[in-house]
Order: sequence, then C-alpha cells, then structure tokens
Amino acid sequence: MNRAFNFSAGPATLPLEVLEEAGAELFDYRGTGMSVMEMSHRSPEFIDIAQRAEADLRELLDVPTDYAVLFLQGGATAQFAAVPLNLLGDRVSADYVNTGAWATKAISEAQRYCRANVVASSEATNFDRVPPRADWQLDPRAAYVHIVGNETIGGVEFHDFPDVGAVPLVADMSSTLLSRPLDVSRFGVIYAGAQKNIGPAGLVLVVVRRDLLDRARPDTPSVLDWSLNAENESMYNTPATYSWYIAGLVFRWIKRQGGLTVMAQHNRTKAQKLYRAIDSSNFYRCPVIEHNRSLMNVTFTLADESLDKAFVKGAEAAGMRNLKGHRSVGGMRASIYNAVPEAAVDALVDYMAAFETEHV
Ligand SMILES: *Cc1c(COP(=O)(O)O)cnc(C)c1O
Repeated sequence: MNRAFNFSAGPATLPLEVLEEAGAELFDYRGTGMSVMEMSHRSPEFIDIAQRAEADLRELLDVPTDYAVLFLQGGATAQFAAVPLNLLGDRVSADYVNTGAWATKAISEAQRYCRANVVASSEATNFDRVPPRADWQLDPRAAYVHIVGNETIGGVEFHDFPDVGAVPLVADMSSTLLSRPLDVSRFGVIYAGAQKNIGPAGLVLVVVRRDLLDRARPDTPSVLDWSLNAENESMYNTPATYSWYIAGLVFRWIKRQGGLTVMAQHNRTKAQKLYRAIDSSNFYRCPVIEHNRSLMNVTFTLADESLDKAFVKGAEAAGMRNLKGHRSVGGMRASIYNAVPEAAVDALVDYMAAFETEHV
C-alpha cells in the first residue's frame, strides 16, 4: 500500500484507520453476510449505524437537545436552496455576508427565492478577509443571516462568530465542521457537506434549531424540507447509507483521538507550521490577512507564477497530491483537514524550502 499525502480540498483524505475498518467489514458487515452498501436503510443493522452516528456527532459537537440533526443528500449546494425555502416563512429577504466563492454561490441561489441582501463583502479586497462585524448593515426584518464559516477556495475563516441579535444565524460549515469545538447554540442552522472533513461525498449534515422547523414555503421540495426529514429521521427517502456509515466511523475516530479539543490542537499546530513557512520566506505569500486565515485550507502563491507547474509536479513526485489552487484563484492550496497527518505538513514545509532554494 502506498498512501499519498493528500491535500485535496474535497473529496478529501480520510483517516487510514477508518478505511481499514470499512475494508475489514466491506463484504460482510458483522456477520450479516452483506456489505453496508447492500443493506436496507430500514434494517435493524443500518438503523443502529445511523443512530450511533447521530449520537456520536451530538456528543462531539455537544449539540443541544432542541436541535435536530439531519443526514441529507445533495451536498451543501442543495442547502443553498434549502436554506431560503425552509426559513423564509412570510419574510421576503435574507442577509448574506460575502466572503468568497462559496458565499457568492449561496447568494445567487438564494436570489431565486428571495431578496438576498449582501450586508457586507470583502470582494473589493479580493476576498482576503471576513468583513468586520461593525461594517455589516443588518436588517432586523431579514429571515436569517447567512455566513460561510470557512471559504474552502479562498482560505478565509471565521475564528469567532458574530452576534446578529434575534435573527437566526445560518452557517455553511462544510470545510470546518469538526475541526474544533463549536458553540452550536449560537446558530439557528449549521450545514456541512461531508466530503471535506466528515466523510465521503453524497452526504450533507444539517443541524437546525427545532423552533425553525415551522416556516418552510409550501412549494419546498420534499427532499429539501427539513421538517419532513426531521419527522422521518432523515429517511423520508433513501439516504446516502454508505456515506452515513463512513461518517459514523469518522466520528468514532475523532472520539478516539480525544474529541474536538484535541483535534483543534492538532489543526492549529499543522496550520501554524505551514503559515510560518510561508511568512518566513519572500518566495511564498499567503493572500489572506493573518486574522482570518483558515486552519483547514491554506492558500499561498509563489513569487513567480510561471513556477506553479514545476512546484506541483515536484510535489507529486515526492508523494504530495492535490496542491494546485482552485482554478478560480490560482496559486496553491493545501487542505489540511483532521485526517491529514502532521507528517504531511512537515513533508510539505521541507519541500517548499527545497523548492525555494532551487529556484531563487
Ligand atoms: C464544497 C463546498 C460547497 C459545495 O459542496 P457540494 O457538495 O459540491 O454541493 C459549499 N460550500 C462550501 C464552504 C464548500 O466547501
């Protein structure tokens, strides 16, 4: 077996222990003679898998009992539509903070259903930061305030969460959920596509305060209706069973590591090493202001962009994959989710230093 150091932004690396566990029970899940993939979602075995996953997630995130936890399909992108559909009620507008590519997508999807007010944006500075809360022009009549907790493409992260008063705060946490402890009670809704830091693609988690489950528009498609899915324990239709199962193994792996506090320590150590390597050189540069740099997606550019291809090629030859930045922003991006070991970051830092020496 030859596992690469995989810096993919998503679908992303999973803990080797989880893959080994899944591999060991791939053909015969605990004496059932079936793979989890081949099992009815209504079978006692799968119900047990599903309930354990939810219980472990609730424990990890300390989810208050007045929140529903949903395991849905359609990725975070489906939730870009589900959020306005489920929350507008009789309101006509929602507030959005634009921090980059994913916020922009969320805004344009919401515009299909309501007036999506961009109450703050860092577009003028090329999305290098979270606009300071003092500059947000919030509307108290908005149905909700939407933020993207971590911009996976730009590498911009909220390290603390704004107070938005009585209007529910809704956060796309796709690439940061489970990277550190989180006070769920600060939010009306949190959603996260699994393929970044949680599990395989095909699954999106939605954590929603139950008092918000009564305001879906009547034309909300059933698969996107949180209330209907909560009543049916995320089995209104067939859920992404295998992704749900793997996410459950990931939750247990995080618990074995010591939970989110320990995860956060590892993640801070990895990110600090990488940002230090970038900041201590004149050859590499991080485009994000220090205060809002992501712990999960570290973006950086080379002094001479004509060397980008050589950088990526050399990294691949050294067993480091998927370092090329998103096509929309260029440069490099190292996604260092929970499952990326510190050794991968050490290897990258060494490679960066060697590449710089060779090219200056
Ligand atoms: C990846 C990502 C999305 C889109 O996820 P899909 O599963 O492709 O729908 C949305 N928001 C953020 C922050 C992401 O990282």
